[in-house]
Amino acid sequence: MDTILVAGTGPAGLTAAMALAELGRDVVLAGPPPSSTDRRTSALMRPAVAFLDGFGLGETLKEVAAPLAAMRIIDATNRLIRSPAVTFRAAEIGEESFGLNIPNAELNAALAEKVRENGNITWQEQIVHAWRPAANHVEAELADGTIIRAALAVAADGRNSPARGAAGITIRRRDLHQSALVLNFAHARHHGFASTEFHTEHGPCTQVPLPDGLRSSLVWVMRPWQAEELMALDDAALSERLEERQQSFLGKVTVEPGRQVFPLVSALPMRFAARRIALVGEAAHVFPPITAQGLNLGLRDVMDLAEVVRTHMADPGSTAALLRYDARRRPDILARSGAVNLVNASLLSDLLPAQLLRSAGLSLLGSASGLRGFFMREGMRPGSGFAAILPSILRGA
Ligand SMILES: Cc1cc2nc3c(=O)[nH]c(=O)nc-3n(C[C@H](O)[C@H](O)[C@H](O)COP(=O)(O)OP(=O)(O)OC[C@H]3O[C@@H](n4cnc5c(N)ncnc54)[C@H](O)[C@@H]3O)c2cc1C
Repeated sequence: MDTILVAGTGPAGLTAAMALAELGRDVVLAGPPPSSTDRRTSALMRPAVAFLDGFGLGETLKEVAAPLAAMRIIDATNRLIRSPAVTFRAAEIGEESFGLNIPNAELNAALAEKVRENGNITWQEQIVHAWRPAANHVEAELADGTIIRAALAVAADGRNSPARGAAGITIRRRDLHQSALVLNFAHARHHGFASTEFHTEHGPCTQVPLPDGLRSSLVWVMRPWQAEELMALDDAALSERLEERQQSFLGKVTVEPGRQVFPLVSALPMRFAARRIALVGEAAHVFPPITAQGLNLGLRDVMDLAEVVRTHMADPGSTAALLRYDARRRPDILARSGAVNLVNASLLSDLLPAQLLRSAGLSLLGSASGLRGFFMREGMRPGSGFAAILPSILRGA
């Protein structure tokens, strides 16, 4: 049986279908056409952009995306102990930019177009209605009753993943009692292709550049009642509140119509593959949108899965293949989820030791260029921070 089934048509599912089809496998993709109403943008680091570029998306994405040349963290809490501002510049580690900020709707549309052009992919535009995993294959029944039998199924069906449930994988899930308000806004001063994250007691308020130097996207994390209050304001009143929150660093702010609110949760499965089903994207990890890690991690799931399938071509859903995938993904997913949840908890915590630790960490990052370089490399490409310092350690420097 040659078929691999990919369930889910978000960015993780669309890229998984492409990556597996490029190995010469027959891929059935199940899921509705991707949403064109997602107002979010995704800050994708260079390795993720290079991966998408491999599907021939480079030029299309460059036209709609903004380069990320610098990232700034500003402590905007009213706490007793506050941290100094820290700026990370890509030029410090010899790069032009950390990556690109890409509107999700445009990214999904470009991916969907490539999927449709690919002769190895059959796209069934409906959801999987029922799963029946077995020893030698996994069976999925689509909404119209069509049965798909596959050697391997890829669960790219999002945070509530029915496929994950069918694989018998349990998750630890925590409601964070936080929401993210998402919108685009115009501003009087040029953003200089920098992203600025204002850390507040309820979560970060993050501006990310859009291609036009005088427009940015926003992810503002706060308590759900605060999000409700801001959603009730008209655009002019919300513009004032945003400008105040950002200490007018971009001058006058004009919020554009079309806001969205995303409730935040944190979720981690106990395993990343079982019963011929492998998890990718938010089926495999959910955490708050801090330091833009989610989809970057999701695309690394897809890269690792493609590599495992390449080395287990005879039976990509075998126990050996699934164990290999689980082992490859576990350290990266646990490290990223842990780090993001820790930063979030340190912001929300009223405890003095947590504030002290956060402040000391940021002060150290602000003053030590070597350490800053390490974090920038690790943030962009896991393992590359260690790789950059390894030679000097070996030299005894
Ligand atoms: C406010 C916010 C900002 C973010 N910003 C960034 C950022 O800057 N950088 C970054 O890297 N990450 C970011 N993220 C994270 C990123 O958005 C997610 O990691 C990413 O969207 C997850 O994609 P996915 O394909 O796994 O899931 P989804 O996009 O949720 O896709 C799941 C798909 O599965 C389909 N589906 C569901 N059930 C079934 C079924 N039974 N059968 C078939 N299909 C099914 C759905 O229709 C959907 O198409 C952000 C997240 C939030 C909330």
